[in-house]
Amino acid sequence: PTKNTPIAGSTAKQAPPHFVLVPHAGHGHLIPMLDLAHLLALRGVRVSFVTTPLTADRLGGIADQAARAKLPLEIVALPFSAADAGLPPDCENTDKLTENEQFLPFVNAMRVLAAPFEAYLRALAPPRPSCIVSDGSNPWTVEVARRLGIPRLFFHGPSCFYSLCDLKALEHGLHEKVGAADDEEETHVIPGMPIRVEVTKGTCPGYLLEPGWLVLHDEAMEAMRTADGVVINTFMDLEGQFVAGYQKALGKPVWTLGPLFLHNRDDEALASCGSTTAAVRHDAIAAWLDGQTPGSVVYVNFGSLARKLPRQLFEVGHGLEDSGKPFLWVVKESEVATPEVQEWLSALEARTAGRGLVVRGWAPQLAILSHRAVGGFLTHCGWNSLLEAIANGVPVATWPHFCGQFLDEQLAVDVLGVGVSIGATKPVLILDDESEPVPRHDVARVVSALMDGGEEAEERRRKAKEYGEKARRAMEKGGSSYENMTRLIESFTRVEGTKTNKP
Ligand code: UDP
Repeated sequence: PTKNTPIAGSTAKQAPPHFVLVPHAGHGHLIPMLDLAHLLALRGVRVSFVTTPLTADRLGGIADQAARAKLPLEIVALPFSAADAGLPPDCENTDKLTENEQFLPFVNAMRVLAAPFEAYLRALAPPRPSCIVSDGSNPWTVEVARRLGIPRLFFHGPSCFYSLCDLKALEHGLHEKVGAADDEEETHVIPGMPIRVEVTKGTCPGYLLEPGWLVLHDEAMEAMRTADGVVINTFMDLEGQFVAGYQKALGKPVWTLGPLFLHNRDDEALASCGSTTAAVRHDAIAAWLDGQTPGSVVYVNFGSLARKLPRQLFEVGHGLEDSGKPFLWVVKESEVATPEVQEWLSALEARTAGRGLVVRGWAPQLAILSHRAVGGFLTHCGWNSLLEAIANGVPVATWPHFCGQFLDEQLAVDVLGVGVSIGATKPVLILDDESEPVPRHDVARVVSALMDGGEEAEERRRKAKEYGEKARRAMEKGGSSYENMTRLIESFTRVEGTKTNKP
C-alpha cells in the first residue's frame, strides 16, 4: 500500500484519521470488530462504531471502558426498529434468533440501515471520515461509501485460507457446479489453491441452510472485490502463503492485523455483550482451574451460535465423562432451558465432581484458554475460537458445525498441524439440528487423542505453542500485524490541507 507522508522538513500538521466501523450483530463478527476498534483507538485513531440501539446498549461496558481510558472511541446507535423490519421485537443480535429460518431475514433486515447510516455520515462535521470498515454481511454500505466518496475496507470474519478458497471457488464457477450436483457427498476440488482443498455441497463456501444465502454471498463477494482493501484477523506467520495468494487474486491491499484480541481485551466488558452474568462466575471458574494440574483440562465450547438439542448435549456429556479427562464444558442458557436437561447436567456434575465443571451461559473464553490448566480445546472451529486457541498455544480437537468451519478445520489439522478431527463431515443446522448426533464414543476418542501423551499429541502441542509465540510477536512492535496496523493508519493519515487519502 502507498501512503501520503508529509514532505520532510515541512511544518504540515497531521490529523489523526477517523475510521467508521460497521459490524454485523452476531458475536463471532462483533467481537473481533470491537477488538479492532479498541486497537485503532489505542493507536490514536478516532473510531465510530456504528450499530443498532439495543446492541449499542449492550456495548455500554465497552464504551465506559473506552471513556475511562480516554480513548477516542464512540458507539453510535442508528435508528432501527426490529419490528418495523419484520423481525421479532428486540431482535438486534443473532443471539435473539430462535429459529433457523430467521437468520437470513435478520441479515437482510439490516439493509434498512443504509439511509440512517448515510444521514449520520452526512451530518458529521467536516472533514468526511477517512474510511469505512464494513463487515462482509453488510453489503448495503457499499453504495453509501461510493456516494459519499469515502474509501471502504472489507472486514472479513474467517481465516484468510477460507477467504482465498471462497474467491477461487467463485473465480472457477465452483458454486454453480456444486449447486448443480445431485450427490450431497460428492467432493469437489477448489482450483487454484496452493494446497489441495476438497469440499462437498455442504462445506463449499457460501452455502448455508437455504439458497437465499447465495444472493447475499454474491453481494458480499462483490463488496469484497470493489473494496479499497481487506482487513483480516490473522497474522503472516500463520497464513502467509494464503495471504499472498489472496492479495494477488484480489489485486488489493490485504491488511493482516491479528490476533486482534491480544491487546488486553477486557473480558468483563465483553461479557455484557454476551448478555449474562459472566463476571460473577469469572472467579469461580478461575478458582476451579487453579486447582487442576497444568495442561490437564479439556475446554469445550461451541461458540456463540450453535444450539444443541438435549440428545446431542447428552452425547457430549457422556463422551467427556467416558474420556476420564478433567473438563470445563460451556453449555448455553438456551440449551439448559428444560428441567430434564438441568437434572441431567446436575447428575453429570455429581458423577464427575472434582474433575468436571459445567458452566451455563457465557464463559470468559480468553481467560480460560490462557489458563495454564487448559491443555486442549474441543471447538466448533469458528475462526475466533480457533485463533484464540492457537494464539494461546492450545491444541484443538475439531468438530466443525457449519459454514467456513469445515475449511478452518482443514487449516488447523492438515496445514497447521495443531488439531485432531472428530470426523464430522456434514454441516448441521445452527439451531436444534435433528440429524444423527455425533456419538459419545467419538467425543471420548477425540478428547483422549487430544489430551493423551504420544508422539502426535506432543507434536500438536509443540506446534500450537510455536504459533502462540509467533502470534504474540506479530502483535508486538516490529511484528507483522503491528507494522501493518501502522501502515494502515498512515495510509489514511491526512496532512492538513490535503484531500482524504486512499490506500
Ligand atoms: N465466546 C465467549 N464465551 C462463550 C462463547 C463464545 O467469549 O461462552 C466468544 C469466543 O471467545 C469468540 C466468539 O465468542 O471470540 C465466538 O466466535 P467464533 O468465531 O469462535 O464462533 P461463532 O460464535 O461465530 O460460531
